[in-house]
Amino acid sequence: MGSARVIIVGAGVIAAAQAYAFAARGAEVTIVSASPSGTPSFGWVNANTKLPACWGDLHLRGLDAHEDWMRRIPGASWFHQTGSIELIADDADLAGVALKVRRHHARDYQAEMLTRQQIAELEPDLDVSRIVGGCWFAREGWTDVPAMCDQLIQAAVALGARFHPHETVTGFDKTGVVTINESHERTIHHADHVVLAAGNGVRALAATLGRDYPLLEPVAPLASPASPARGPHSPTVGLLCTTAPTLARVAHVIRGEGISIRPDRGRGVVFTDHPTGGSWDRNDPHIWSLPQLFHARAQRLFPKLRDTCVETVGIANRVLTDDGLTIADWLDASRRLYAVTTHSGVTLAPYLANAVADEVLGGVRAPELAPFALSRFTAGHARTESSAAH
Ligand SMILES: Cc1cc2nc3c(=O)[nH]c(=O)nc-3n(C[C@H](O)[C@H](O)[C@H](O)COP(=O)(O)OP(=O)(O)OC[C@H]3O[C@@H](n4cnc5c(N)ncnc54)[C@H](O)[C@@H]3O)c2cc1C
Repeated sequence: MGSARVIIVGAGVIAAAQAYAFAARGAEVTIVSASPSGTPSFGWVNANTKLPACWGDLHLRGLDAHEDWMRRIPGASWFHQTGSIELIADDADLAGVALKVRRHHARDYQAEMLTRQQIAELEPDLDVSRIVGGCWFAREGWTDVPAMCDQLIQAAVALGARFHPHETVTGFDKTGVVTINESHERTIHHADHVVLAAGNGVRALAATLGRDYPLLEPVAPLASPASPARGPHSPTVGLLCTTAPTLARVAHVIRGEGISIRPDRGRGVVFTDHPTGGSWDRNDPHIWSLPQLFHARAQRLFPKLRDTCVETVGIANRVLTDDGLTIADWLDASRRLYAVTTHSGVTLAPYLANAVADEVLGGVRAPELAPFALSRFTAGHARTESSAAH
């Protein structure tokens, strides 16, 4: 595919994966990012109950691509394919979950019902008296997101990419992007194509071109007279808590009522209210009581978690488009600027990177990307209901 010059804007999971995919195809890659890493994430890799079906299909492809890259990239270790378990607390929910399992089978997605006894064997420290059964997704797991970003950027650099962390893109030049670094030095990087993989930053970058990019606006970090709290609750805001080391063993991604828990890279665990369910006001001081509430929920399932405390709390803005689904499309008619923004980005990053690199370098758009063009936001275009957080 030749040596096109490509600038990737961002250093989160989407950008890191794009950088690797372009570099692996022989492009001359420059990565420019305001910060050296991306947003914190629960990192559950899954293709579980994602609607509409075309978006569920992207998730399956994302899972396939993680498996493929883990085999192919030397030293790749970010994806912990532990399987995930959805806990069922009430007999009344059993039939609904069994129906979901049959639907997964129909799309060739591995899922099976588990008895309480089977769960006790898989998770010896879980208090199974609180559940009636569960559901098992063998191909799922969790990603160490900072490791994934580091490893993919390093793999891109090993293939010749240049990485400029701490450079913020402020606008576009006819032949590239204009950046400013921490010493306020201005640089122009030249390229044939620019891939905007800057998460919520894409909205502001598109605005410099006079484009209204359909991303939900994250709530301002701090309320002030100039920037009042937007309350009550924002679907973009999610909380992630990491505990200090614990003797509680959590072996899988566990999803229970109001809480999701997974192992962490150390000897602690990570929990969140739900990877796609939280909706909080980051300007409300009560937000700081939520980690204790989540810890209490986690302890009800894993009583041994009483031996630990919440060590870090991340308040993160989800990247949510106006309809909750992925955008992967050209921003301009001359096909120089391409934008990729998505929720579920940890799951989708490797697939999107392969598909976008093929489209930008080879001119061929993958048919499964057809529903994820920007044109769906133009007046008169039918909207699709999604299962992403709202
Ligand atoms: C609480 C929470 C839980 C989640 N759980 C899951 C999950 O379980 N599974 C899953 O698949 N997904 C999950 N997600 C979603 C997933 O984390 C995101 O989709 C993904 O992190 C988005 O990555 P990104 O690279 O697009 O953006 P980000 O990670 O936000 O990175 C944006 C990058 O762009 C840079 N940037 C921004 N503006 C500029 C600029 N002007 N110039 C240069 N650089 C710029 C930033 O510095 C940063 O490096 C979760 C998200 C949250 C918040």
